[in-house]
Amino acid sequence: MTPAINADRLWQSIMDMARIGSTPEGGSCRLALSPEDTEARALLLDWCRPLNLRFEQDAIGNMFLRREGNDDAAPAIAFGSHLDTVPTGGRFDGVFGVLAGLEVIHTLAESGVRTRSALELVNWTNEEGSRFRPAMMGSRVHAADLPLEDALAITDDEGISVREALLAAGQCGGLTPSPRGWACWLEAHIEQGPVLEATGADIGIVTGTVHARYFQLVVTGEPSHVGPTTMDRRRDSLAAAAEIILAVERIALGAEPGGRASASWIENYPNARGNVANITRLHCDVRHERAECAAAMDQELRDAIAAIAARRGVLVAIDPYATFGPVAFDPVLGALLRDKAGARQLVTRDLIAAAGHDSVLIAPLCPSAMLFVPSVGGITHNPREYSTRQHVARGAEVMLEAVLALAG
Ligand SMILES: [Zn+2]
Repeated sequence: MTPAINADRLWQSIMDMARIGSTPEGGSCRLALSPEDTEARALLLDWCRPLNLRFEQDAIGNMFLRREGNDDAAPAIAFGSHLDTVPTGGRFDGVFGVLAGLEVIHTLAESGVRTRSALELVNWTNEEGSRFRPAMMGSRVHAADLPLEDALAITDDEGISVREALLAAGQCGGLTPSPRGWACWLEAHIEQGPVLEATGADIGIVTGTVHARYFQLVVTGEPSHVGPTTMDRRRDSLAAAAEIILAVERIALGAEPGGRASASWIENYPNARGNVANITRLHCDVRHERAECAAAMDQELRDAIAAIAARRGVLVAIDPYATFGPVAFDPVLGALLRDKAGARQLVTRDLIAAAGHDSVLIAPLCPSAMLFVPSVGGITHNPREYSTRQHVARGAEVMLEAVLALAG
């Protein structure tokens, strides 16, 4: 008999967590290593205290909460997600995966079940990449995809480095980030898309992810006066950036249905009313279900930028600073999640994740899988992001069953 998760406790924990950094629109804002993120981490530790978990933290702030098993030699079963959010975050992205994992451990503790393998609940640092880029920073460093020293030197828009932010938040742990020899990794997450709801599925089995490429662009023109400078003499970085933004959108429209691309961040200098802008920084990304199509979108973007730069007499520096995927998750773990959901009469559907997740970085280290629960209306990174009490409870139940099957 599998013990049952406590759906009320899970729901209440998600609502309680959402209060930290709550926004007037009903969402949450907990940028990585901000006071809000730090408070969220402390609350997680508070909740873990009665469960007698061993807490360890590495030098990039990743949190590991370990429940020992009966067999010290058996590698741990690990699961979790992230507690940080984007500035316009909802209550579920990342939080659900961490708190579903906590609920799994809570349920086992309460029912006196001791597994053979140890369990590790993980909160990854800076998954979102809103304050410090790149995204999935903690898992990248853990997986040696990004050197620790490089990550620590990265600064936010205020010039505060990751190292300074970790120290200020008291989140700089003693462990050197490195793989922990896990038997496998599971991540529960909200879908952040409309497919599960539209098809009436309860649980998404994530078979893999898209391939994404991120770019930081710096457009450099020439400063001048908006009055006397005739149009033919201008080298306007902001106007060039505007054309690039539309080119990004056009490339994505041409790559549908599998492709997406966005320009999502801009900084303009001197950003003064009397000045033709001369330095504009843009962030954009391209992504596609098929790696070769993402590469073609990348090339299209470079060609479009070259044409715009030549025509307008501006320079565009392209920094392709990060990529992720494509990743194929472990089919055996996927089948286990599908079976456990099916045994509960839940409808499953296989999906490809279009967003980045920490699991992308962990998949090369050990067998990994993700499950999705429905997102109402597919709305995400938005205060209206919502999954029902039943959605999250079902996701946690399937996680519990899978963890029990894996941990023995
Ligand atoms: Zn997330």
